[in-house]
Amino acid sequence: MLRIFNTLKGKVEEFKPLKEGEVSMYVCGPTVYNYIHIGNARPAIFFDTVRRYLEYRGYNVKYVQNFTDVDDKMIKRANEEGITLKEVADKYIAAYFEDTAKVNLKEDGMLRPKATEHIGEMIKLIKTLIEKDFAYEVQGDVYFSVKNYNEKYGELSKQNTEDLQSGSRVDVNDIKRSPLDFALWKAAKEGEPSWGSPWGKGRPGWHIECSAMSNKYLGPTFDIHGGGQDLIFPHHENEIAQSKCATGGDFARYWIHNGYINVKGEKMSKSLGNFFLLREVLEKYEGKVVRFFVLSSHYRKPIDFSEDELNQAKAAVERIENSLMRVLEKMDERDSIGDHLAVESLAKALEESKTKFVAAMDEDFNTSQGIGSIFELIKEMNKFMDGTSLDAEGREVLTAASDFIKEAIIEVLGVDIKVEKKVGNMTSELVDFILEIRQNARVERNWALSDKIRDRLGDMGVKIKDGKDKTTWSI
Ligand SMILES: [Zn+2]
Repeated sequence: MLRIFNTLKGKVEEFKPLKEGEVSMYVCGPTVYNYIHIGNARPAIFFDTVRRYLEYRGYNVKYVQNFTDVDDKMIKRANEEGITLKEVADKYIAAYFEDTAKVNLKEDGMLRPKATEHIGEMIKLIKTLIEKDFAYEVQGDVYFSVKNYNEKYGELSKQNTEDLQSGSRVDVNDIKRSPLDFALWKAAKEGEPSWGSPWGKGRPGWHIECSAMSNKYLGPTFDIHGGGQDLIFPHHENEIAQSKCATGGDFARYWIHNGYINVKGEKMSKSLGNFFLLREVLEKYEGKVVRFFVLSSHYRKPIDFSEDELNQAKAAVERIENSLMRVLEKMDERDSIGDHLAVESLAKALEESKTKFVAAMDEDFNTSQGIGSIFELIKEMNKFMDGTSLDAEGREVLTAASDFIKEAIIEVLGVDIKVEKKVGNMTSELVDFILEIRQNARVERNWALSDKIRDRLGDMGVKIKDGKDKTTWSI
């Protein structure tokens, strides 16, 4: 049974999708005015993992993540670079795909709508809100009236409107009726890109984008809405208010929010200037290491970003790869007398690891514990390979264990480890051929040639081990 911490309810609860076997999920995407930093990479990686796990559990997942390609920062960037809004968007969307492909996001079947391509849908929602008296127009701006929605506002962020009201600054120039009201539509200013609307030329507010796009692709009520915890207020609170009022649906049923990435205890953010771009980190560490690093903590906990942590992730990924490569090498060994008890014990460890992995992921996507259960199996697998020769039965269980680790790590967690023998087939065949010649030399007691071959291969990094009846090699 999958259980999810639902921010809306403030607790972990059983996940029951609207439609059996199907999950609809919307996650707020990046504002594409710059390269993404590692803090932005966390939700991208985590929610991709959520999708993968739901699919592993047999659900058909409809996953939508938008691009915000119009807002103040975008306009500022366009002016700075002397290019159009669309050119800014195209440039950083391309960069986004370039960077996130390296951390293995599953793009297949995913929808990535752009805000500027849904202005019509946004205008329609805003018109409905005005008609239902949940919004009003002032000087070409349109605002959502929090007072008219009132009773539920603050439900997600667990704040009441009085506290919010007293906490907000009242600007004398403000044309809003109440400080809590937020913009649905902004009248065009000089030099800004704009679209025609019933209220004159202008552009949409940020919050209405997500309401319009989620409604278009997932309907007025859908299963999961995700994003970073910094989006809870005001963005998600406002999405809920305007969507419920406009469509009459329940909007999102489960709200999932990931924690921050910290640097020396402080939240990584563009405004604090303590951020690391994902592409900078990827120059030093492979995507699989970055992804493993992100998933090795529970998603709701903060992660400390440091070289130390990344190096630990790198070592862990190598441990997994080395063990799986050893399995491949072990499979090359000839059948011998196995150890039935050792096989049984490995089979038991495999079942336990599977159960624990699913239990961990089922309990609010606990990737950190899930990874732990895989390492328990790796330990048992290494012990098995150290101590036992393979017979048919051992071969079968070892293959099953290795297959499960690959499925969990590569398919579910999306950590794209490489499990190949470190040399290509051709090289591998060549080494085997050279060893055959060496074997002939040994039969002829030509020790000089035999040693020469061994030493030269050694210089090239191929280590030879003469066994009782077989010579094996490794890189
Ligand atoms: Zn959003």
